[in-house]
Amino acid sequence: MTKTHVAECHCGQVRITCKGEPYPVFMCNCKLCQRRTGSPVHIGAWWPMEDVTIEGTTKAFTRTTGEQGTEVTFNFCPDCGTSIWWGGKTEGDGPLVGHYGIAGGCFADPDFPAPTHSFYERTKHPWIKAPDGIPCFSGTIDDPSVGAEIEALMHKG
Ligand SMILES: [Zn+2]
Ligand SMILES: [Zn+2]
Repeated sequence: MTKTHVAECHCGQVRITCKGEPYPVFMCNCKLCQRRTGSPVHIGAWWPMEDVTIEGTTKAFTRTTGEQGTEVTFNFCPDCGTSIWWGGKTEGDGPLVGHYGIAGGCFADPDFPAPTHSFYERTKHPWIKAPDGIPCFSGTIDDPSVGAEIEALMHKG
């Protein structure tokens, strides 16, 4: 039987069931995720859209990121405020089209798969360590070259 992982917001109104294992699992050290999550590091776990079932109501917040002005929309629980999923684009460019990103912390599972990539390490808190051997990107969210590096890497994955 395929393993499932279940994410919930703080109050339990939003429940997301994901089939199989996530890939990639991002560790994001950007300042925007720090503010969005209230945590020094954010974990983003990606699944193909067909393996994800989202129950409950969410509200969307769109932010514009970096010099390229990339728009990213985050979905949060209107009752408790947990920022829980994003992505879910079915058209456009980029390796993550056709995928949902789910907040790794919302699985509240110590056995959850470890990060496969670490991003925006220039704003990483120094005591946070990425798992040994994973690709780490040193730029900040405002650094346009990081987006291209990520894209190239993801197409390989
Ligand atoms: Zn909630
Ligand atoms: Zn981030």
